[in-house]
Amino acid sequence: MKIKSVRARVFEWKGKTVPPQGNFCSNAMDLVYSKTESMSTFRFHSWTVVEIETDDGIIGLGNVALAPAIAKAIIDQYLTPLVLGQDPWDYEYLWQRMYRATHAWGRKGVTMAAISAIDLAIWDILGKSVNKPVFKLLGGRTKEKIPCYYSKLYRTDIKEMQLEAQKFLDQGFTAFKTRFGYGPAHLQKGVAENLKAVEAIREVIGYDNDLMLECYMGWNLEYAKRMLPKLEKFEPRWLEEPVIADDIDGYAELNQLTSIPISGGEHEFSLYGFKQLLDKKAVSVVQYDTNRVGGITAAHKINALCEAYSVPVIPHAGQMHNYHLTMSTLASPMSEYFPMHDVEVGNELFYYIFDGEPVAENGFVQLEDNKPGLGLTLKTEFLDQFNIIE
Ligand SMILES: [Mg+2]
Repeated sequence: MKIKSVRARVFEWKGKTVPPQGNFCSNAMDLVYSKTESMSTFRFHSWTVVEIETDDGIIGLGNVALAPAIAKAIIDQYLTPLVLGQDPWDYEYLWQRMYRATHAWGRKGVTMAAISAIDLAIWDILGKSVNKPVFKLLGGRTKEKIPCYYSKLYRTDIKEMQLEAQKFLDQGFTAFKTRFGYGPAHLQKGVAENLKAVEAIREVIGYDNDLMLECYMGWNLEYAKRMLPKLEKFEPRWLEEPVIADDIDGYAELNQLTSIPISGGEHEFSLYGFKQLLDKKAVSVVQYDTNRVGGITAAHKINALCEAYSVPVIPHAGQMHNYHLTMSTLASPMSEYFPMHDVEVGNELFYYIFDGEPVAENGFVQLEDNKPGLGLTLKTEFLDQFNIIE
């Protein structure tokens, strides 16, 4: 079996969008002086879809959400020539070829996301070629089904957040993640607002269920050090990305500060990046995203590393490329889960582009034993609502 063609297309959403509330989640731009509200520019309204076809007619699907147009250019100009004519079963060789050929300017960020997309398509091909789901190639089922946590709960009106938490509690979820709306720029009033929201969610879900807290890099070290002791009484399962991804020592310091476990990794890349996080005890929960971290080839190795360090790995976002790794890894106790909803920020576009993403039932998602590859196909339902750039 040989790779015959690689096609990368940018799917740009032109359909209806719902504007999220201004401070629905703090973010790294909050600390930079800006004349506009920082979250108003925070949208991902396009996605790159990669289709790799083999000489025996199998098509593998990969995807990349970070800087899609740039990822497409990297795939077209640099990565495609490295994999054309090659045997997809040589996935480790191909991964190293892509990683080392781009090393001078790649390594992390959008280049690694582009490598991830090719790698995902390769693993989809491998599964399809032997008629097995990808998780079977990675070790099989380590759990009957995957527990997942409800992750939307963006910061909005407190009453609305409580209604949303109640709705998904009623659907059987036992773990919930909410986002802080405020950071250092909002001073003491923001501190109070943040605490008020956490208390309100606890009021609904009680203490028999898990609560996770998300900062999305919108705090700084000093602010995080002030907030953590105040949050301890709410018993969060973890506090996510308190500071920017490059401040690994900051993560390590916060992780030792209180009983609250610090999580991160959705903006970290490759085996080396995670070795550094784990060596420094910077995170107590690892949250890579398979479509950024280097694809399944890299994520599988990081899972082994997490197992050896006894650190749980709970990938960022739902999405099939992550579910297969969670299913096949004992070190991965659960998945993140977003329900299908109107297009707001853009990470939900995945559900508009692909068919096959499992829907949670009673707080669990299931992968099928008889669905080969990643189990995704391109959806036709919303095709006319995208500009597709070849
Ligand atoms: Mg996150």
